[in-house]
Amino acid sequence: MRPRERTVADWIAEGLKTMALHCGCGHFATVTLADLPPTRLGRNARCAKCGRQGAQVMRDMEAHYTEVEANGGFSAQYPGTKDGA
Ligand SMILES: [Zn+2]
Repeated sequence: MRPRERTVADWIAEGLKTMALHCGCGHFATVTLADLPPTRLGRNARCAKCGRQGAQVMRDMEAHYTEVEANGGFSAQYPGTKDGA
């Protein structure tokens, strides 16, 4: 049994505000969830560049990192890197 495809409503419920859509042609766009119908997103999306229907839906990483920064940023230490090196 396949897991249910996530919908716009699901992402809004998770607190997400934007998602990134990637097309096979390399074009990508960020969409605002509040502007969309609360349905499945990927296969309804049409690429503005090549016109292909259906896009790969990914988390909007830019918004994600902005949120991470707002929450204090990353605390991980990377081995091999030293301050002032
Ligand atoms: Zn395209």
